[in-house]
Amino acid sequence: MKAIKNIGLIIFLAGLGIFTSLIFIGEFKFSQDSLDQVISEKGIKSEIFIEDLKKTVVGKEFDGMLSFSPKITSALETANQQHRRNKEYKKVIYTAPHDMAAFIGKKAGSGFIINNKGLMWFLTFGLGIMGALMFIVPNVILLGTKGIKNDGIYHENATNRGWIAWFVFIFLVFFYLILYFRSEYAVNWTYLLDPISVSLSGNQAGHWFVYGFMYCVVMTVMAVRMYIKYRHNMYQMVRTTSVLFFQIVFAFLIPEIMVRLQMPYYDFKNAFPLDYDFFFSWNLKELTASGGIGLFILVWGIVLTLIIVPVMVYFFGKRWYCSWVCGCGGLAETLGDPYRQHSNKSLFSWRVERWLVHGVLLFAIVMTGMTLYSFFTETGTVLGIKTQNVQNSYSLLIGAFFAGVIGTGFYPIFGNRVWCRFGCPLAAYLGFVQRFKSRFRITTNGGQCISCGNCSTYCEQGIDVRAYAQKGENIIRSSCVGCGVCSAVCPRGVLKLENGPEKGRINPTQVLLGNDVDLMELVNKK
Ligand code: SF4
Ligand code: SF4
Repeated sequence: MKAIKNIGLIIFLAGLGIFTSLIFIGEFKFSQDSLDQVISEKGIKSEIFIEDLKKTVVGKEFDGMLSFSPKITSALETANQQHRRNKEYKKVIYTAPHDMAAFIGKKAGSGFIINNKGLMWFLTFGLGIMGALMFIVPNVILLGTKGIKNDGIYHENATNRGWIAWFVFIFLVFFYLILYFRSEYAVNWTYLLDPISVSLSGNQAGHWFVYGFMYCVVMTVMAVRMYIKYRHNMYQMVRTTSVLFFQIVFAFLIPEIMVRLQMPYYDFKNAFPLDYDFFFSWNLKELTASGGIGLFILVWGIVLTLIIVPVMVYFFGKRWYCSWVCGCGGLAETLGDPYRQHSNKSLFSWRVERWLVHGVLLFAIVMTGMTLYSFFTETGTVLGIKTQNVQNSYSLLIGAFFAGVIGTGFYPIFGNRVWCRFGCPLAAYLGFVQRFKSRFRITTNGGQCISCGNCSTYCEQGIDVRAYAQKGENIIRSSCVGCGVCSAVCPRGVLKLENGPEKGRINPTQVLLGNDVDLMELVNKK
């Protein structure tokens, strides 16, 4: 079995290595025809940009994006500088330089990769999936009988911030930086997924399609790991299936199929303010111009945030969203599971968490207020501040850096719920409802607690669960995402995730200990 695991690891690393090398290799040849297409599709009026491309790119061959991209970005920046200097604003190109390089790169691809998409898919995604499963599945036998499987976690490089963890950290951060800021280097990846994208939406794959597809693949493979590791716990099995279903069907398939049906791209489960650009004017204009379905999405988006989300949190706690439905939570609970023990449990981090997550919620609300004001009054500024600048700042700082680069890239170092705990404005909103008006609680049978600390160690939200268990106190914390892992790793069955009457839900003063002489009296009073 160990040999199968090792072979699987080698195959996985080979797939990952080939996938990564695609950033640097490939052939690009840009023809006059393709240039004409770009000019008409992008509505380019800058003769400086066109002439520059004709001179430096058209008809030439490039052996990789590293040499191809700078020609496009520098041509665009030079042209824009000159047009701005000459006040020729109609000729300025508003596509970002690296997005333009990705757009042109997609049309310029030629050679082995583009002519062998199926083979290249197998050598990257195929090997990656096969190798990962060969590494994971033998655990059915190697881990032995059902039960808590955390032995050795603090003795392994990968799960104790050793060199493997740092390697994964660097890879993930690098991947997210490409995705958000240098999408032209993802062009070769898009070729491998063109056939799948065309069969779903009718369009060729872009880098966000690559991300969506990878997201589903990674979650599926890591869900297999969850099924094996937590097979003693039905809650984990069902919850993992639920997040997987919502990711694949709601976040990936339905939006792509909607595009094929000439409808707006929309993820029906992505609630505002996590879906922070829902009220941006480009989205409102697109929705209102899309007829009945556009209006339905608009109404659904508002009803989801204002009614469905809080009502469901009242009945089931925020776990219904954060641990059963949300894509960010889904990735955290599958890919991030090996790192959940890294969440910081100090009081200091709790303080930082409260300031930060509520600060982001406030930022999202202020930005949306400015956006709606600007939309309805058709002005670009509020109190002298440009709405567009506030939106751009939010998109960059929160949408790209916090949710993406830090939120996922930092899994191996800071734990798997950095974004959900410190940054997600929707989690902050759900947290308010959960704390003050909900039927959800984790009950603790304090008399059974042996203070092993498993629950606190594996709480991804940094909650000191043991402290509550020792006192026999219900856990009512706004940050608890109801993942249930504290309960799954408790050797004494102390913790139970429950929905019940609001009365008596918060019981901070009761102390139940195994040797308490009044134990039965206190239990009966409950
Ligand atoms: S307290 Fe338990 S259920 Fe809540 S987030 Fe922590 S581990 Fe998950
Ligand atoms: S509640 Fe369970 S896991 Fe937590 S300290 Fe007590 S016995 Fe250990």
